[in-house]
Amino acid sequence: MRINLNTIDELWDLEKPVISPRSRLFSLEPIGLGTPYVESLTSYIVRLAETHGTTISKLVISEIVPILRPENTSYNTNFYNFSSIGSSTARGALNGTGLMAINLIQALQKLTLRSDLCFLTMLPWAEVIGSQKGLSRHIKAWCPICYEEWHEKGQVIYEPLMWTLDVVKACPHHHQRLQTQCPHCHKQLLPLEEKTRLGYCSKCRGWLGSCLETKQEPSQDELNWQLWVADSIGEVIATAPSLEYFLNQEDLQMTIRRYVSQIFGSCKDFAALIGKSDTIVYEWVWGDKIPQLITSVQISHVLGISLLDFLMGEIVCVNRAWIAKQRQSQKLQKLYLPHTQNFDWEPFRQALITALEEYPPLRMTEVIKRFGFIPTTSFYTRFPELTKALKERYLDYQKAEREQIKSDLIDILLADEYPPPSLEDVARRVGSEYKMNKYFPDLCRKILDKYLAYRKAHKLELSEKRCQQIRQIALELYSTGIEPTNHTVSKRLGKTGILKNKNVQAALRKVRFELGYEKSYT
Ligand SMILES: [Zn+2]
Ligand SMILES: [Zn+2]
Repeated sequence: MRINLNTIDELWDLEKPVISPRSRLFSLEPIGLGTPYVESLTSYIVRLAETHGTTISKLVISEIVPILRPENTSYNTNFYNFSSIGSSTARGALNGTGLMAINLIQALQKLTLRSDLCFLTMLPWAEVIGSQKGLSRHIKAWCPICYEEWHEKGQVIYEPLMWTLDVVKACPHHHQRLQTQCPHCHKQLLPLEEKTRLGYCSKCRGWLGSCLETKQEPSQDELNWQLWVADSIGEVIATAPSLEYFLNQEDLQMTIRRYVSQIFGSCKDFAALIGKSDTIVYEWVWGDKIPQLITSVQISHVLGISLLDFLMGEIVCVNRAWIAKQRQSQKLQKLYLPHTQNFDWEPFRQALITALEEYPPLRMTEVIKRFGFIPTTSFYTRFPELTKALKERYLDYQKAEREQIKSDLIDILLADEYPPPSLEDVARRVGSEYKMNKYFPDLCRKILDKYLAYRKAHKLELSEKRCQQIRQIALELYSTGIEPTNHTVSKRLGKTGILKNKNVQAALRKVRFELGYEKSYT
C-alpha cells in the first residue's frame, strides 16, 4: 500500500513536540532549600556522584573540572586531578562566597540545569558578610544526634550548609556543640575528599552518628551564645531563596551609618560598645569596608535585633535599656573568644613540648597548622614561654643552616675540583637552591663564573682535539689513495655532526690545501 504523504490527516499533529532541554547530569533536588538546614554545595556533589553510581573523584575529574578549566581542552582528562577543584584544605571555600564557589556553581548549573544551587553556598550574602577569610571551616563539623535521627527515620544523610560555617559552633536542634573529631579514629576530616561519604568518617569509615565523649562541656552562657549565633545564621540561610535581590555592601554601610548616627551619635561610642577600634567603625561608616560575619552577629546581638534584620537594613527601635545592660555586664568581651572558653588546652601544650624535640625544628605556623582551627594569638598569649622557645630554636637552626651553606659554598669555590661543579650540582650538595641564591648571591656568581670559564676552555680544547683527529683521518685517507672530502672523512669518522663545526671545517680545508686539493684554505 502506498501512503500519500501530501494528505495530512487532521488528527496528526506534525508540530515538533516541545522537549525541555536535557541535562547532562541528573537534576538532583537539593535538600532543605529555604530552611536553615539547607544542604551545602559540597554535600550536593557527594550525593550527585552517589546518584550516578560513580565516585566523587570521577564526577569531579571527568565532568566538573573540564568546565572549570576549559583552557586545558587540548589535554585529555588524564591531565586533570582531584585537586583541580581546589586544594584539600581550601575546599571548604566551595560553600563560601568567593570565586571557587562561583565557578563550581556555574559548572554544576550547566551539568544539572538547576538554577537554585547558589543557595547551597553563602554567595547570596557575599556583599554583606565580609571577606571569605574565616567564613568557611577548613575541617568538617557535624551534629552526631542529627545524623543519628536522620538515620533512624530513614532520611537522606547530608551535610547542612550551616555546619560548614566557622561561626556556627552548636546544633540549634539538639543544643549541643558540633563535633570536629571522628569518635572512632579521633581524626579531623576535610570538607571534600575523594573518599568522602556523608555521615561517615573518610579516614576510618566509622559512623559519625555516635558521640565523642568530651570532658569539656561548654558553660551555659557560652552555649546560649552559640545557639543564638546558630539560630541567627540559620534564619539568614533560610531566607536566601526568597530574597528579591541580593543585598549590596552600600546598603549595609548605610544601615551601620544610621544606627551610629541615630543611637550613638559618634563612631567612638559605637566602637566602644561593640569592642572594636574607632578606626574600624570609621572605615565601615565612611570607608569601603564592612564587618565580618561574626562581628555582624555581635552587633545585632548588642542592638537586640536579629542578624537578618541587621543585614537586610531594617532599622528597628532599639531598646536602650537592653544596650545599657549589655554594656554594664560587659558580656561582649566574653563573646569575643567564645570557642576558647573552657577549652582543653592540654593537648596543645603537649604538642608544643613535643615540637621542641623535633628535628629539624618547626616554625610556629607549622605547629599551629597541625590543629588548623586555633587562633594564632591565643597560642602565643597562652604559652608565651613555649612559643618563645620554639621560635628561638627555629631561628637558631635557620642561622646555623645559613652558616653551613656559606661555608659549603666557600669550600666549593676554593677547592681545586676539576671539572668545577655547575650551580645545579652545588645546589644539590648544599641542599637548598633557593637559600643559597637568596643569601649568598655573590658566592653563587663566583661559582658560576668559574664553571663558565671551565666550559669555555673545555669547548676550545675539545675543538682542537677534533681538528687534530680530522687532520689525522685526512692524512690516512690520502695515504691510501682516497681524497679526503666531507663525505669520506665523516664516513671514516662514523659521525657527521662534527664536520658542521666551523673550526673543524677550516682544519679539513687546511689539510686539503696542504695535500694540493685546494688552492687556498682561508
Ligand atoms: Zn543536631
Ligand atoms: Zn574516623
